[in-house]
Amino acid sequence: MVSIETYLKTNTQSNDLIHIKTIGQLLENRDNILEAPQKLIIGDTSNILFKKDFAGLILKNSILGKPEVERTQGDKVYLRVPAGMNWHKLVEYTVKHNLWGIENLALIPGLVGSAPIQNIGAYGTELSDCAPVVCGINLATMKNQIFTPEECQFRYRESIFKQQLQDKLFIHSVIIRLHTTYQAKLEYKELNNTFKNSKPTQQEIMQTVCRIRQDRLPNPQEEPNLGSFFKNPILDKKTYLTLQKNNPPLNEIPSYEVTNNPQKIKLSAAALIDNCGLKGYQHPNKTAVSKKHALVLTNPQHKSGKDVLELAQYVQTKVQQKYSINLEPEVRIV
Ligand SMILES: Cc1cc2nc3c(=O)[nH]c(=O)nc-3n(C[C@H](O)[C@H](O)[C@H](O)COP(=O)(O)OP(=O)(O)OC[C@H]3O[C@@H](n4cnc5c(N)ncnc54)[C@H](O)[C@@H]3O)c2cc1C
Repeated sequence: MVSIETYLKTNTQSNDLIHIKTIGQLLENRDNILEAPQKLIIGDTSNILFKKDFAGLILKNSILGKPEVERTQGDKVYLRVPAGMNWHKLVEYTVKHNLWGIENLALIPGLVGSAPIQNIGAYGTELSDCAPVVCGINLATMKNQIFTPEECQFRYRESIFKQQLQDKLFIHSVIIRLHTTYQAKLEYKELNNTFKNSKPTQQEIMQTVCRIRQDRLPNPQEEPNLGSFFKNPILDKKTYLTLQKNNPPLNEIPSYEVTNNPQKIKLSAAALIDNCGLKGYQHPNKTAVSKKHALVLTNPQHKSGKDVLELAQYVQTKVQQKYSINLEPEVRIV
């Protein structure tokens, strides 16, 4: 058995683990990969909860290198980025080179190759806004495959790679579209308040996003966590209105029409948890709901993934009892 360095500090092991540093190395391990009864691809594990040891082969993305300009067209720059690059380092790189597009996604943990999986998003921007083209090796055929943005089927915290292609395509690079001209996205309330009537630089936006995140989220180095543990529930408007009628406490929860889909209502999962009185809740097993943010479950005493899952189930039950709403995990549970 091999120990896995998990982001949540859950002390987990797997049968076998290979650090994939080049595409060639993936091809060299072809037989090993094809024969493995169970496979799991990982980046930095900042979005994975291991509920037990993994009885299979883990392929760890370690494909390093520098971003390269694939092509330019007018003010558009298409950047090819190796999958093993740290996401925030890429944000810093684009800001340094005066490229617009991902500054709102500063400080999201993890690697570039993992970003398309759940279409990472924050502060009014999603990865899909950069029209990503995803390149990977199909682990059944060992052939290269390229996915256009449409083929990636991006949605809120979803893509084809989180569904039917989970652990079937090893992503080795991502091409993103950036801009050389001003493209600030300031719809998010706190960014709007900060930059009212001004024209901020990418650097200023990146720094503001970092400050907001550091103020609002617990530091994973001190309190290991996976960011938002649950997705914000999205309901049909009709279902929502019926629920609201039968369940008056639901009126306390902020709700928003989903952009481009007025028939859907998005609810704040953090408010649902907070209004159940669970912000800062300490479970008897020593895991906790963060005091800073109700959507973040923390593991300060490095307990097992099973313990964190027990806390997650407790939170789901409380929200279900009070609001008749099922909270769906955003994190992957293995
Ligand atoms: C403090 C904190 C804050 C966060 N904030 C945000 C946020 O604001 N917005 C947001 O969207 N997310 C956020 N996250 C979640 C997380 O950072 C992202 O999901 C990130 O993309 C995960 O990267 P990773 O390298 O750690 O991937 P992992 O957790 O290792 O893997 C995530 C998924 O990707 C798959 N995968 C990984 N690498 C590959 C590959 N090369 N090929 C194919 N599949 C692969 C894995 O199988 C798994 O399903 C946050 C997490 C933390 C801890």
